[in-house]
Amino acid sequence: FRMNIAIDGPAGAGKSTVARKVAEQLGYVYIDTGAMYRAVTLGAQRASITPDQPTMLAELVRSMKIELAPGKEGQSVFVNGEDVTLQIRSREVTLQVSHIAANETVREVLGQMQRNLAARKGVVMDGRDIGSNVLPEAELKIYLTATVKERALRRYREIEGSQNVTLEQLEKEIAERDNLDEQREISPLICASDAVVLDSTGMTIEEVIRAIVQLSRT
Ligand code: C5P
Repeated sequence: FRMNIAIDGPAGAGKSTVARKVAEQLGYVYIDTGAMYRAVTLGAQRASITPDQPTMLAELVRSMKIELAPGKEGQSVFVNGEDVTLQIRSREVTLQVSHIAANETVREVLGQMQRNLAARKGVVMDGRDIGSNVLPEAELKIYLTATVKERALRRYREIEGSQNVTLEQLEKEIAERDNLDEQREISPLICASDAVVLDSTGMTIEEVIRAIVQLSRT
């Protein structure tokens, strides 16, 4: 019996690391849906399309061929054959992605791609609206969260040295992104009514992974 597992939650809660390891342990496919929104954002930036140009944004997303491939450090992302795995993690993309992700057509197109990827079951999908919107029938839904301080600190340790940003700035940016994701009109970040809430503040990654794998077996 194979199931689908949805892992949602705010930015920096550890969803991608946890989802990837859970998928590994269960022999499932890991799908990072945030990477898809990031890929569209990168495409928009390259084409100088801004979030207030919905028609052009819709055209862009429909013309993009987004492919995900499992890599050793997470997942590789290809757009029209080009490997954009690193580019989609830039600060520029991170600062704009929530604005692009609020577009109706972008969400429609990516949501459909995500449903197709999960059609045969056996996926662990992480995002913001997976349990509430993309895969409402998922057999297991996790809402993974942590205090904004803790999430900013984790992100800070991750990127330390590589990007010129202070912990305070990061905390502010994370809070802003959460706010945009929670407040948007179409499929906002929300905890599905049947999701299991895991607050990972003070938990190790391993503890979180173990908890989810155990839940998948009950
Ligand atoms: O998960 P990650 O932080 O890479 O996601 C980047 C952004 O993509 C989120 O802040 C959100 O705006 C958007 N997103 C979304 N719905 C998803 C996944 C990500 O709107 N399912």
